[in-house]
Amino acid sequence: MPAQILNGKALAQSIRQQITKKVQGYLEQGFRSPKLAVILIGDDPASEIYVRNKSQACKQVGINSKLINLIKSVSETQVLDLIDQLNNDIDIDGILVQLPLPPHIASHTIIERIRPDKDVDGFHPYNLGRLAQKRPLLRPCTPAGIIELLKTTSIELCGLNATVVGVSNIVGRPMLLELLMKDCTVTACHKLTRDLKKMVQEADLLVVAAGSPDLIKGNWIKAGAIVIDVGMNRMDNGALVGDVEFEKAKQHASWITPVPGGVGPMTVATLLTNTLSAYEALYLKQNQLYQRKVNQ
Ligand code: NAD
Repeated sequence: MPAQILNGKALAQSIRQQITKKVQGYLEQGFRSPKLAVILIGDDPASEIYVRNKSQACKQVGINSKLINLIKSVSETQVLDLIDQLNNDIDIDGILVQLPLPPHIASHTIIERIRPDKDVDGFHPYNLGRLAQKRPLLRPCTPAGIIELLKTTSIELCGLNATVVGVSNIVGRPMLLELLMKDCTVTACHKLTRDLKKMVQEADLLVVAAGSPDLIKGNWIKAGAIVIDVGMNRMDNGALVGDVEFEKAKQHASWITPVPGGVGPMTVATLLTNTLSAYEALYLKQNQLYQRKVNQ
């Protein structure tokens, strides 16, 4: 029997509806809207599209987004000064810097300057450290979105052999930590892994984030495995494909994500969730405490 489809688009839509309701509730109580600052440096067309999609998603759920577009030649110091301003701005709940950055700006320096409690991408070493210690706060969006998607299968993750292909700081590594937190036995694969096929064949749960079209052959998939394809590769004919041979893998897996419509929408939905959490933890908590004092 072919695999069931893990529909990220539908789940993301229902998460957005829940966020919309919550935001409306806060507005009715007299609180301001949550607000996300998005910094885009340069004019990379793909980054412009990602930023536009995120801003639209914010608008749909009632989150204000402020886009700050900086020229490609902006200095690292200027970006750091801007982040300091946003860190101290009480009307900003979340800060997102669209990656990749121009080569003269070190992304780790920029990420480390963002206040961890406004780091809605979850990339700050503090937030990654919290995840590593099983006490997460703001979690990297793609792996956290995948965990939400996996919940819809109702499959118990505890004890599964989980293989993650790709170990980037933004997807693969935090994905490994998320799966460890779910008590999976995790295996990390990367460019220098000697026998990728063998590692994939042993996986009950496979997450692929390599950025290499059809890297994972359909007949490597273990019967009944869950397959999560994070890859987004734009082909010359304009088609968007993942890292897994979808049609063939579907014949072996129990569940599989499509590309597009699988992980991508969940990443954006988790960004909205994180922004709402930052707003609730920073702005809302302080204002509710203040109101309680006034009413006493
Ligand atoms: P990256 O380039 O930073 O890292 C790629 C990783 O894959 C590296 O660890 C590398 O060692 C590994 N890798 C590359 N080729 C390999 C091979 N042949 N065998 C084994 N491992 C290999 O990439 P990234 O930023 O993590 O993104 C990976 C993919 O996921 C890209 O296609 C990207 O567009 C996509 N992505 C999708 C979303 C989403 O929301 N759907 C979010 C982020 C990234």
